[in-house]
Formats: sequence, C-alpha cells, structure tokens
Amino acid sequence: MNSRDMRIGAKTAIALIVDDDPVMRILIRKALETDGFSVHESEDGRQAVASFPQLQPDIVLMDVMMPELDGFGACREIRGLPQGTRTPILMLTGLDDLDSINRAFDAGATDFIAKPINWGVLGYRVRYLLRSANTLEQLVRNQESLAEAQRIAHLGNWEWDIEQDQVYWSAETYRVLGLEDDATTADMASFMERIHPEERGQAQDALRQFISEGHAIDTTHRVVLDDGSIRYIHILGLTRRTADGRASFVAGTIQDITDRKKAEERIRYLAYYDALTTLPNRQFFLEQVQRSLAFARRHGRLLGVLSLDLDQFKRINDTLGHSLGDDLLVAVSKRLGDSVRTTDAVARLQLASDGLARLGGDEFSVLLTELVHFHDAAKVAHRILDELKSPFRLGDQEVFVTASRGIALFPNDGETPEILVKNADTAMHYAKEQGRNNYQFYGGGMNATALEKLALEAQLRKALEREEFILHYQPKVSALDGRVTGVEALVRWNHPALGIVGPNQFISVAEEIGLIIPLGEWVLATACRQLRAWQQAGCAPISVAVNIAGSHFRQPNLLTSVADALRDTGMDPNLLEIEVTESMLMDNVEGTIAVLRNLKSMGVQLAIDDFGTGYSSLAYLKRFPLDTLKIDRSFIKDAPGDAGDAALTTAIIGMAHSLNLGVVAEGVELQSQFDFLKERGCDVIQGYLISRPVPPENILELIDMRESMAGIATQPVKVKAG
Ligand code: C2E
Ligand code: CA
Ligand code: CA
Repeated sequence: MNSRDMRIGAKTAIALIVDDDPVMRILIRKALETDGFSVHESEDGRQAVASFPQLQPDIVLMDVMMPELDGFGACREIRGLPQGTRTPILMLTGLDDLDSINRAFDAGATDFIAKPINWGVLGYRVRYLLRSANTLEQLVRNQESLAEAQRIAHLGNWEWDIEQDQVYWSAETYRVLGLEDDATTADMASFMERIHPEERGQAQDALRQFISEGHAIDTTHRVVLDDGSIRYIHILGLTRRTADGRASFVAGTIQDITDRKKAEERIRYLAYYDALTTLPNRQFFLEQVQRSLAFARRHGRLLGVLSLDLDQFKRINDTLGHSLGDDLLVAVSKRLGDSVRTTDAVARLQLASDGLARLGGDEFSVLLTELVHFHDAAKVAHRILDELKSPFRLGDQEVFVTASRGIALFPNDGETPEILVKNADTAMHYAKEQGRNNYQFYGGGMNATALEKLALEAQLRKALEREEFILHYQPKVSALDGRVTGVEALVRWNHPALGIVGPNQFISVAEEIGLIIPLGEWVLATACRQLRAWQQAGCAPISVAVNIAGSHFRQPNLLTSVADALRDTGMDPNLLEIEVTESMLMDNVEGTIAVLRNLKSMGVQLAIDDFGTGYSSLAYLKRFPLDTLKIDRSFIKDAPGDAGDAALTTAIIGMAHSLNLGVVAEGVELQSQFDFLKERGCDVIQGYLISRPVPPENILELIDMRESMAGIATQPVKVKAG
C-alpha cells in the first residue's frame, strides 16, 4: 500500500469500472490507481451487477451504452441490491446528452461525468463523490442509532411548521401513535384522531391556545390504538414564535409512557387498596372521607361513617382455617359492595361505588353520603344486615355471618375523618357489647329514635286508611272566670302494638313522607265534626283550634280543605281556629299574608303558635291578620320564678295587646303560673293545671263542671286526664 492509498476507514477504497470498451477501462484504471484506488473491471452491466455483492465497491463508474445490460439498467439493479442502495454511481455519458443524464438520475445514479473524460479532473470528482457518500453514510448511521435509541426509549421526535402547515414525524413517532408510516400522512388531523375521544376536545382547545400564546408544550394524553387498547403519551415541544407572539414552528418529542403510568397505577393500587378483597384500604378511605367532608361542609350536608366488624370471625377463622377465612372475607366484601351499591327505593341512598373499604382484618367501613336524615344511615345498617343473612358457601361448608355495626355522623360526632372513623368504631364495639348483630349510633341517643322511625315510616303510611288516628282535645279557659272558651285538637296515633303514640313521635316523619296533608285534612274534618256534635249535644259555644303543619300551610288546597270542612259540618266559621307557628309565617311573608287573608275572609280565627321560639319581628307581626298569640310553653315553664322569663312574658302580653291580639299561655302547670299570668293580663290559659288533652267524650263533662263552678270560684279546678 503506498501513501497515496485511497482509504475508506481502514481499507483501501474499491472502484468498479463498468465499460465494454477495454481502452476506456485501462485509461480509467490508470487514473484511479494513481489516486490510490483498488480498481476492478466489468465488461458489461450484467457482469457488474453479478460481481457487485461480492466485491462491494465503494464507487462505481458506469458507461451508458453496453451490450447485455446497459448502464441505466445496471444502475437500477444495483440500487435494488441490499448493499447497493447508497454506493455512489458515476455515469459516463456523452457530452451534453441531456436525455441520458436525466435517465441516469432516474435510474439512481449519483452523478455523471461527460465523455470525453477530462482525466485531470476525474480523480477529484471521484474523491469528492466518495467523501460525500461517506458523510451521508455517517449521517444515516447516526440517524439509525438515533432511531434505535428512540425505539428503546419509546421516544419519537416531530416537527410542525405551523406557518407552512407541514408536519414531520420520526419513525418512532408513528410507532408511538400506533400508525404505519407509509399508510398515514403526518399531519395534525391524523394526530388528533388518535387522541382518546374524551380528551380530544380538550386537546384541540389546548392546541389553539398554544398557537396563539406560543408557550412550550408539555402535556399527557391517552391515545386509542386500532385494537382499542389505550396508550399514554407524553408530548414536549419547544416553539419558535412570530413577532406577534404566535407559534410559527414547534419541534418536540413524543413518548409512550404507558409502562410508567401502569407502574404508577400499580404503586397507587398497592398504597390504596387491599390486596385480598381489592377494596380500598384505610388510607384511601380516610382520603375519601376527607373529600366528602369538604363537600358536606360547603353544602351543609350530613355525612356518615359506618364501621362494621364480623361477629366471631376469629372463631370462624380458627375452625375453617385461614385460607377459607380469607375466602369468607372476599365473599363478605362482595356482598357488602352489592348492598352498599344497590339503589335503594329511596334513590338518594345511592352511594358512591368506592364508599366501601376494608380497614383491616374483618373490619370494614362504609362512607355514607347523600344522607338527608340520620335514619338514612340506619337504613344502610339494616340493609347490610339483610345482605349478610343468607349463608356463605365455603368449600362444602355453609357459614352464617353476622356483623356489628357502628355509625358516626358529621357534624354531630366529629369533624375529621380520623375522629369519625374512631367514633364509628367505638359505636361498633358498643354494638358488640350489646350482644352483637346490631348497630349503634355513636353517642347512642339516636338509636331508639332511628329504629322507631324506620318502623314508623312503613306503618304510618297505612295508619290513615286503618283509621288508627284519633284526636284528643285540650281545653282552654278564660283567666278571668275559668270558663272553657275552646279546645285545641291534638292528634294521636292509636298504634295497635304501642298504644297511644304522641304527635312529636310521628308528625315530622309524616311531613317527610307527604302524609301530613291527608292527615291534616282528616284532623280538620274530624275536629269540625266533633264541635258540631258537642253543639248538638247542647254544649255552650266553644271554639276548636287545629294545628296546621308548615308543608300543609303552603299547599294551595289548604283553603279548599278548610272550606270543605266548614261546609260539610255547617259550623260557625268563627269557632274554627287555625294555629300556625311563628317560623311558618316567616318563611314566605307575602305568600303567608295572602293565605291568612283568604282564611280570614272565610271567617276563620287565626292564632300564632309557639310564640317566642321563632324570630318574628313586631313589624311583621303587624302585617299578619292574626287574632290570637299563644306564648310558648318554654316561657311559662320557669315563670314567675325566673325573672327573665317573667319579664319576657309580661312584655309579650303587652305587645300582643297593643296589636289587638288575644293572648293564650300554653303549658300552665302550676297555680303560681296561673296567678302570675292572670295578674299580667293574659286572657286565656291552657295547660295540665286545667286539663291534659282528653278524648272527646270527656270534654262535655269537663265543660259542664266548669260551667257550674265558674259562678262559685275563679280558681281553676284540676281535672284528671283521660
Ligand atoms: P302544640 O301545638 O304546642 O300543642 C301543645 C302541646 O303541649 C301538646 O302536646 C300538649 O299536650 C302539650 N301540653 C299542653 N299543656 C301542657 C302542660 O301543661 N305541660 C306540658 N309539659 N305540656 C303541655 P302534644 O299533644 O304532644 O302535641 C305536640 C305537638 O304536636 C303540638 O304542639 C303540635 O305542634 C303538634 N300537633 C299535635 N296535633 C297536631 C295536628 O293535628 N296537626 C299538626 N300539624 N300538628 C299537631
Ligand atoms: Ca298548637
Ligand atoms: Ca304550641
């Protein structure tokens, strides 16, 4: 090897001369050997193509006109060989033979040199060609290793010339998007089509904003592959901007981050879920409660945490073995999931699907949202019990499971997730102490009430048609002479099992379930009929007062019910008194005034009940067409001993009189109260001191007795309750 060797890397460069003219071959050989090439020859195109793979020349010099296969054909065939795609091929054409030159390029030639050959230049041309071929080779190799690196990293690169609307995607970009690079053109429409439909709108908005503001892109999207599977992609892009700040060109990367997402999900799963039952774990549950608490707090909602612990699980586990014990926990968690998710007849009890969690061992927790009343929580506790009733099949065994449940409510029983869970636990342990398989509210106070309410709702719906309601009447007497001026009708439920149930036990439930309106109509009609019966029995004219509930008062058909009751009995409307509470009046002042006026126009008396417990102002009171004010029992209770209450009562009496209202004091139990009220000018007295509410048949004798005594003494006479 001489110092003039033409080298490519470590080896001498090989030139292949293809020419049917031997003289030409010798001349070219001479020229190239001088330049350090190792020279090989072919006599025609066919021979050149045949020897090419073996020889692997670094450059080919090719005559055009040859027998067998001409230069164009040979060039084309070499390009078709795997080794021949990039080898520089220099065509030897006739001078200014433009047609041949064009055909040569079409056939894949790298360059041409015109005959007659300028021998001084040939060496330079060949060297130059080789060098650029080398550079190209390097570039290709770099690109290949870049592509390889991109493939390994699932990272593609792309460019988007926004002004020219041209898009370039690297091979890996296509792959990441799950596209064939020869089947899809790179453009924004094809890109958008790959984005998950749920995110497409948002992606388009982001893109528009990006173009107008020209900041960098950094975003993650889901793409949907042709087989429907989901891939997560992360896109980064840097921007060139126009003078007015719009993006004109972006270059960036796109990466398939599905694996990372999956790993993150897995980590999240491990951190937040229980491996055995796949239910959320304690951590997840606490966070969930935290979120729901924020909502409940903002919207003034009730929220509950129910803790549940299987009874005797340890014993089951020890008898059956741990593996079946695990199976039981899984089966229980499935049933709990069903019972928690089932849409209740009351649609509002639909619970969040992840409201159930396993806190550890055989301890589960349920987050109760959408509670309207605390007894909704009791309903879930009951439903869980029902769900667990049927036996579990484990292997060839049937196992019966019961659970103790405890409920803590926000805001009553705690303000933080930890405290609510702890208190629900406390209640659950208390339930265990109470003999298992029951539930307890934290603080306990709600247990009886909740149970009662549950049973009540169902029975109450039927009570009206079963005629289980009755009215008792409580007399009111004139403070001046002790004469009975009227009675207040007070409803009771004559429950077949419980006996007489007071209205405080069921009125609010009746309101909730919409029963209050038919019930109220029944009370009106019955009270009016009763009054008529007393009158027909020859009793002195007294009035009858009927309580109307808020939701009934706001019903347009209240007026019709009153009118019907009056018409059906033919009684003097003046003897019917409607009692409404202070808070009802203040609810919708204009509407209330209209209803009161209508009632007044029928001749009915109107009383404001429980006065002093609401917030009515004197200014409003003036606007209502009322006749009577009933001072709430709470003021009377400690009067006259309590100076404050005594002063208030005195003030209320004075105020009522100044508004031309009669005053009734409720809940008068003591002679001292009676005396005090009489002295302060109170008109009418109602309370146990006179009589408890009694059945209608007791009223007549009561009136008679008082009539006969009125002339003798102004002292009230105690009458035994019925
Ligand atoms: P209210 O309208 O304030 O009725 C007076 C309540 O005080 C009655 O209770 C009565 O028995 C009780 N009471 C009377 N005198 C005394 C006393 O000297 N001492 C004490 N401690 N209590 C006394 P009841 O019958 O249990 O009714 C409770 C509430 O239920 C009533 O309060 C009223 O708001 C409601 N209610 C009763 N009947 C009806 C009805 O037919 N319709 C509607 N919507 N509500 C009714
Ligand atoms: Ca009343
Ligand atoms: Ca009252």
